[in-house]
Amino acid sequence: MQVTPFSESERAEILRRYRKALETRARLVEQEDYDLARAYSSKVRQAKEAYFKRLPRLTMSCCPFDGKPLVRTFDPYGMDGLWWNPDAKPEELPCCPHFCVLRGAVHFAGEKPYAGKFQAQPGPEVPYVIPRLLDYPGMIVVIAQIKMAPGYLAYPIAYFAERRPPPDELTADWGRGLHTYRMSSGETGWNVPTDPWDFDLKPWLAKGKIRWCPPGSDNTFLSTGPPETCPYVDLPGIRERFIVEGDVAWTHGLPDGASVSRMD
Ligand SMILES: [Zn+2]
Repeated sequence: MQVTPFSESERAEILRRYRKALETRARLVEQEDYDLARAYSSKVRQAKEAYFKRLPRLTMSCCPFDGKPLVRTFDPYGMDGLWWNPDAKPEELPCCPHFCVLRGAVHFAGEKPYAGKFQAQPGPEVPYVIPRLLDYPGMIVVIAQIKMAPGYLAYPIAYFAERRPPPDELTADWGRGLHTYRMSSGETGWNVPTDPWDFDLKPWLAKGKIRWCPPGSDNTFLSTGPPETCPYVDLPGIRERFIVEGDVAWTHGLPDGASVSRMD
């Protein structure tokens, strides 16, 4: 059944309900009233479910192999939405067989960065590519643009391949801290992505590895313009990872390719 996405005011109401239940639960735990705290746990869960069920599903990109639109969950109303929690696992609709992974960037456009009570990882302010992924044969990245309600400009950066590499060789989705995956054998796993990023898009455009949806379009088609007309090249903005928690934002350098030790 088709679910109507929430409006901005419905979203605000769901998030208000979620935060209130969380706060009440924390207070009850402090007072050692565990029975009532458990009741509030279910209120927290209900609000969370309502939020994820009614998240907008937007056209974020367009497959360069079959022209199919890439529709994914997204919260364009602000980073205080639970979609932006790095641990979130939003349920996605099936997509075309070429889609590999969605990354992204968010330009704050002079507006105040603001997130929920978690460390949102929106990416840098301008589009970039991950050379390790683009080096796969038949891999193409598509850059697009989506306006966010607080005045930010978001850049979905979607990877598509003629033949998709195995899931464990891809990377974390946009906004997520970990790359979690399920192999065709059913085996699951995770890692902390540290692949270096490349903001110099021109050489990749020249090699035909970058395509784009025109800014201001509905992201359902690719530009057929020559590489030198790509509007996402050399954009002004901070070229570092951002972390936003509540009304505090800071930069966190760039991934350096060093492996992160795993505790499993
Ligand atoms: Zn496709």
